[in-house]
Amino acid sequence: MDSHKTNMMSQPPAYIAPMAPPPQQLQHFQPTTQQIILEQPTVLGPDPVGITCPNCRSRVVTLVDDMTTMKTHSFAVLLAVLGCFCGCCCIPYCTKSCLAQKHTCPVCRSMIGIYNN
Ligand SMILES: [Zn+2]
Repeated sequence: MDSHKTNMMSQPPAYIAPMAPPPQQLQHFQPTTQQIILEQPTVLGPDPVGITCPNCRSRVVTLVDDMTTMKTHSFAVLLAVLGCFCGCCCIPYCTKSCLAQKHTCPVCRSMIGIYNN
């Protein structure tokens, strides 16, 4: 009885991976499905313009409201200083060129832009 057991710690054979090629740096550019919307910035003028509302994405024609600006007030003050304060200082408030036009969306009522001439 030879009892000298060879203590063959029978290790499981080391799994030798086949020389697989390393995972390639896949440089495939996935076609992105997201659309890049290159919208021409609509130049706002004193008149209503057709525009896609940035807020509600509706294709709308803007509503234009006159609004007073610093320029309006400056003109009024200037006219008042010049002595035309018997009503003339109100002229800037009626003159289109002294007012800014505020474009709003008729659908969601959000302000789209201001035309300041
Ligand atoms: Zn809108």
